[in-house]
Amino acid sequence: MTAIDTARLKHMFDAIAVAIEADKDRLCQLDGVIGDADHGIAMALGFGAVRDSLEPLDLAAIEPTALLNTAAKSFLNAVGASSGPLYATAFMRAAAAVKGKAALEDADVIALFQAMAQGIKDRGKAEIGEKTMIDAWQPAAEAAAAAHATGKSLAESLDAAFAAAERGAEATKDMVAVKGRSSRLGERSLGHIDPGAASAVTVIAAMKNSLD
Ligand code: ADP
Ligand code: MG
Repeated sequence: MTAIDTARLKHMFDAIAVAIEADKDRLCQLDGVIGDADHGIAMALGFGAVRDSLEPLDLAAIEPTALLNTAAKSFLNAVGASSGPLYATAFMRAAAAVKGKAALEDADVIALFQAMAQGIKDRGKAEIGEKTMIDAWQPAAEAAAAAHATGKSLAESLDAAFAAAERGAEATKDMVAVKGRSSRLGERSLGHIDPGAASAVTVIAAMKNSLD
């Protein structure tokens, strides 16, 4: 398995931007039910801005940390919704997790993935069961780390992450929103998938497909 360099990371962000753009309407519809119907637009704006900001970079001259910090900044500047600072923190923490590396080995990618989930959790202060993107990100990060720890390949570990994210997102249907805009609905948020958990599945799927 060759290490993941800045070119591969840029490819990953391009893949996320394409996947989110294709999923934009569904994410807005999900957010329309328990939020303000902008989640697809926010995510597409954010990852579109990331793609544009990475385009002019001289990839041979920078390390993964610089690329990830550029992604964090452009996502934050582009997105006014709650998802803006959450994903910006995820990418900033990812940048810090791989500081000093010229290219990422499997273990580094797992660390990057865990740092993203922890960053979202720290920024949003959400716990499992509160009907947010953390219900997808946290089990995904745990599944990736557990698979890697038992000697699974990066591809297998990211497959496990994706499966856990899907289960986590599906489980948000049976949760009452406690954090964010949809918490205003209380019990009326029951029965609907959280849009941020749904988009997390799309992001993680694109990461898995572009990194393995
Ligand atoms: P807004 O609610 O500001 O319109 P978005 O529509 O872009 O923002 O994102 C909504 C999603 O953000 C929710 O579905 C939820 O997953 C996530 N979210 C909101 N608040 C938090 C939080 N405190 N922690 C984690 N995720 C959160
Ligand atoms: Mg919204």
